[in-house]
Amino acid sequence: MRIGVLALQGGVREHLAHLRRLAIDAREVRTVSELEGLQGLIVPGGESTAIGRLLTAGDWVEPLRAFARDHAVWGTCAGMILMAREVSGGRPLLALLDIAVERNAFGRQIESFEEPLSVAEIEDGLEAPFPGVFIRAPRITAVGEGVHILARLADGTPVAARQGRLLTTAFHPELTPDLRFHAFFADLVRRRRP
Ligand code: GLN
Repeated sequence: MRIGVLALQGGVREHLAHLRRLAIDAREVRTVSELEGLQGLIVPGGESTAIGRLLTAGDWVEPLRAFARDHAVWGTCAGMILMAREVSGGRPLLALLDIAVERNAFGRQIESFEEPLSVAEIEDGLEAPFPGVFIRAPRITAVGEGVHILARLADGTPVAARQGRLLTTAFHPELTPDLRFHAFFADLVRRRRP
C-alpha cells in the first residue's frame, strides 16, 4: 500500500513519519503525475489559502477530484477547509465532502489548545481518548446526509468526520505520538468500496 502526502505547503514531514512508523510506503506528492500509483492521499494542515492558491495554479483541482472518487483522502485542519463543500469566510475549492466549515473558528485567545476526544471508530477510542491538538482550527458547522461525525469537543462541536473513504479532522494527529488515526486511515485505504 502506498499513501501520498500532498507536499505543496504545511505539515508534510510529520504525516510521512507517522505513516512510515506504521510500515506504510509513504511518498511526498509535489506534482499531479505523482498521484499515479497511490492508494490514498493526505492533505496536510498549513494555510488553506496558500495551499489553495498553489492547487489552482498547478491545475490540481480536477485531478484531485477524480482521485477522490475512487481513493481514500484525509484532510487535516487546512486540508479540511480545502475538502469542504462550503466555507464561511472563504471559498470552497475541492468540494469533496458534504460539510460546511468555519475557518479559524476558535478565536484569537485560544488559537491552540488540546482536548482529549472519544472516537468510537479508532482502536480503543472510547477507553483511551485521542489527544486532539488544535491549531487555528476550523470547525464543522453543518454536515450532509451520509457524513458520519467521528469526534466532538466536550461542547458538542464536531471536529472529525467521514464520508465513505473521505476522512477529515480539524486537529493534528501527526503532531502527537498517537498513531491510531493514521492506522484508521490506512484501513480506509485498504477498503475497496465506500
Ligand atoms: N487556520 C488555517 C487555515 O485557515 C489552518 C490551520 C492549520 O492547518 N493548522 O487554513
